[in-house]
Amino acid sequence: MQLVIISGKGGTGKTTIAASFAYLSQDSIKCDCDVDASNLHIVLGGEDIEREPYIGAKAASIMPDKCIQCGACERMCRYDAIHDFKINPLKCEGCAACTVVCPANAIELKDEVTGDTLVTQTTRGILSRAHMIPGAEGSGKLVTDVRKKAKKYGTDEDLYLLDGTPGVGCAVMASITGCQGALIVVEPTQSGLSDFKRVLSVVHHFKVHPYICINKYDINERITKEIEAFCQEASIEVIGKIPFDTWVDTSINGLKPIVLYEESAAGHAIRDMWHDLQHKIG
Ligand code: SF4
Ligand code: SF4
Repeated sequence: MQLVIISGKGGTGKTTIAASFAYLSQDSIKCDCDVDASNLHIVLGGEDIEREPYIGAKAASIMPDKCIQCGACERMCRYDAIHDFKINPLKCEGCAACTVVCPANAIELKDEVTGDTLVTQTTRGILSRAHMIPGAEGSGKLVTDVRKKAKKYGTDEDLYLLDGTPGVGCAVMASITGCQGALIVVEPTQSGLSDFKRVLSVVHHFKVHPYICINKYDINERITKEIEAFCQEASIEVIGKIPFDTWVDTSINGLKPIVLYEESAAGHAIRDMWHDLQHKIG
């Protein structure tokens, strides 16, 4: 069973919930698919037991000893990456068009390391994650790599818990595809509602079963009711409603899952939601 936790945009409390689930489900294999801002390891701690450079892109370079300075590559490059027979690696998209037109075979495409994949042994089990160089592209492929690495540590019968990427880009698609369940975290704001509908359409597209969690449901009960009515109409289950709770900020600052704070109403609601979900996905 693979369960992904996603949201239509960042800042909805997705990671607060994912970190709590990761803590509560000791036996699950965790994947931090939020490769642009991975932080489950900060909450769960532990030691890295695997680290591998990630080749996420290619960049061209000119071999000066072979170049006959014909200028064909500069004319061909659509990304304005070539000037004076030199390639600017920051502009090069690795499309290889210049290698095709070069009459002297003077251009080679080289692998670019754009991050690392890591496996961390935490006190709550295995966590597969990645570190991406800021600004690097190709996060969707990196998410797929993170998921592949996790599979080495489990069987098909295990529960894989994925902290997905926010939004609806290729990284979130790479997080959702192949999962059986998706917990969508939504906040009751007008923009939260439309972001939720967009991400829900992606979940439907991949034929993944959606569960809805309304975070900070009491900050706008009118929109919360609107979300609930929409879900009822679409026969989608609202599995959790988390109240606004200042303990959440305390837990973020303390780098601990909110479920460890006994006084926290949000922590209790997340625990209840997890128990409910466990029965459903059992
Ligand atoms: S690989 Fe493509 S983007 Fe890079 S320099 Fe060559 S033509 Fe330009
Ligand atoms: S196409 Fe090849 S030979 Fe011509 S300028 Fe570019 S690198 Fe040099």
